[in-house]
Amino acid sequence: MSDSHAIAVVIEDEPNLRKFVRMSLESDGCEVYEADSIKYGLIQASTRRPDIVLLDLGLPDGNGVDFIRAFRAWSDVPVIVLSARTAEGDKVLALDAGADDYLTKPFGSPELLARVRAHLRRRSRAEGTVSSQFDFGNIHVDLARRVVERKGQPLHLTPIEYRLLSCLIAAPGSVLTHQQLLKNVWGPLHAEDSHYVRVYMASLRKKIEDDPSQPRHLLTEAGVGYRLVT
Ligand code: CA
Repeated sequence: MSDSHAIAVVIEDEPNLRKFVRMSLESDGCEVYEADSIKYGLIQASTRRPDIVLLDLGLPDGNGVDFIRAFRAWSDVPVIVLSARTAEGDKVLALDAGADDYLTKPFGSPELLARVRAHLRRRSRAEGTVSSQFDFGNIHVDLARRVVERKGQPLHLTPIEYRLLSCLIAAPGSVLTHQQLLKNVWGPLHAEDSHYVRVYMASLRKKIEDDPSQPRHLLTEAGVGYRLVT
């Protein structure tokens, strides 16, 4: 019940799945509004003032990615995509368009609620006082002073490594695609160079993770991108 009174909009055209998502969220204290199309989803999202949106991609009046593009014009509320296993490309498109995360169907209630809670927590933190300090594991980052410490000792990062870490810190828990990281760290001319991300993520892990071969914070989302888990 930690996130009670959160408002969720569920946009899904499959009635049984929509009902399952609704009942799971309601059991956690959420107030849930449903929609079965992009058009109605946009109406619900603009009138209900949700704290989180759960979005199917295959909708009768189009691709959910179109919903995200329209929604992101006025809202930064977390969007979790409910995606079919066969729609890998759509998942990346959705994240590039501004979705925060995805769940691959079929998913269970505990998985759904854990993801929703994580994004609601992040959102309520973001709404509090803005801090330039960020801690996870043994790592302390001071964004104002551009200083990173590991177990209290200064940690030297190259400028690229630092920018990569800053990008992930800006959206903890969210999946960032290769494209988003390339654009933010290297600039728009390097959109195709996804090997850059792999190389620098490996060097960042060596400095940040206790066991770089079993990362606990800088996680790979296969075929999609990376996620910072705190
Ligand atoms: Ca569907």
